[in-house]
Amino acid sequence: MMIIGGGAVGLATAYLAAEAGFRVALVERENVLSGATGFSAGIVTTQLSLEEDVKLAKRTIEILEKVQRTSEVEFMSETGFVTVEPYWMVDESVKVLSSQGVKYEVLDEDGVRGVVPFLSVKDHEKGVYTCMDKVVDLDRLGKAYSRLLRSMGVDVYSRIRINGVLRSGDSVEGLHLDGVGQIRADNLVFAAGPWNKELMSELGIYEVPTVIYKCQVVKVRTTAPCQYVPFYVSENHLYMRRDIGGTSIAGNGYSKVVERVEGAIGPVEAEYVHHIADLLLERVSVPESILVAGGWSGPCSSTYDGMPLIGRVSGTSNCFIVDGLDGYGLMRSAGVAELLLESVVTGREVEWATPSRQMVSKDGTEVVELHSI
Ligand SMILES: Cc1cc2nc3c(=O)[nH]c(=O)nc-3n(C[C@H](O)[C@H](O)[C@H](O)COP(=O)(O)OP(=O)(O)OC[C@H]3O[C@@H](n4cnc5c(N)ncnc54)[C@H](O)[C@@H]3O)c2cc1C
Repeated sequence: MMIIGGGAVGLATAYLAAEAGFRVALVERENVLSGATGFSAGIVTTQLSLEEDVKLAKRTIEILEKVQRTSEVEFMSETGFVTVEPYWMVDESVKVLSSQGVKYEVLDEDGVRGVVPFLSVKDHEKGVYTCMDKVVDLDRLGKAYSRLLRSMGVDVYSRIRINGVLRSGDSVEGLHLDGVGQIRADNLVFAAGPWNKELMSELGIYEVPTVIYKCQVVKVRTTAPCQYVPFYVSENHLYMRRDIGGTSIAGNGYSKVVERVEGAIGPVEAEYVHHIADLLLERVSVPESILVAGGWSGPCSSTYDGMPLIGRVSGTSNCFIVDGLDGYGLMRSAGVAELLLESVVTGREVEWATPSRQMVSKDGTEVVELHSI
């Protein structure tokens, strides 16, 4: 099996495929985790709106725990996660969590302050706390996967360009790699994240139905207590988590459509920094303790109906894709990789995520945001 892309999804697919007995090679244009995953905020939470997503996030945590144990590289901290939302939304949120056996606790105002001491909570709000959620150190995640893949005999080609494909009828029998030559494979998995669109179109394999977005995060220095549980405030879509060295990362999931993936990568925009600063002023009880210290932007890809693409590409017998993971791809990465592999092995489609479905935006907007409240 040939995997294209060494992000969270490609690495998880390579690991699970090697574990299942496939002979695996992975090709990455730059270095592993240098794409969308490397720009992410590292949050892995089960607090998502759809049952399918909660299941994928829960499974991702289980698989990442195994990767951490087996590789002996510590990359994940069990921080928990708290969502602050109007009390009338809590029943619905916990119903989804209970349906997937996720442990949670509903917190009143004092309870929320117990886990995030500086957060201003409004009278009509409550917190949903999931104690098993994680934060991932992305550099260390890359080290863990690299170590494991090496030990499992996976060939990882880093900083290699794909020059073309070897075709035979409706199957792609391999790739031409710059400086390496031809590599043949029974199955090809396109896990190049937001880059799938350009790459698969250039190779003449598939017009990927995704929209590419620029997502941003702000780095914040704070003298407020730096021990707190990562949180999300649904009213402002504001999320925040602590980072290393007394800094934190904050964002609100606001995203902007871009023509090309490279247009999504760069420093944070001043306008966005002001926006996040305003949200923090409203929500942090000690605003004088907060100092904005930069940030960055990275790419995300979404489909028109908000559901990911997982499975075989129509019109090919052996090309598979994972894409459209929106701003929630790290937390679903290994769960999605496992679903894809099942589909490769059994030939069955993942019905709700099949790339061959008809996709129509539900409300006439470019894409639908389905994953958080
Ligand atoms: C600012 C920001 C914050 C985010 N925060 C979170 C978060 O906290 N939690 C969360 O779950 N998600 C978050 N996300 C979303 C998450 O980063 C993505 O959904 C996820 O990383 C997608 O993983 P991937 O493996 O599909 O893609 P990628 O990580 O992009 O991996 C694709 C890889 O393919 C490589 N590639 C590209 N072209 C080629 C080619 N021609 N040949 C070979 N390789 C190629 C790229 O270099 C890249 O390494 C965030 C995203 C952004 C931008």
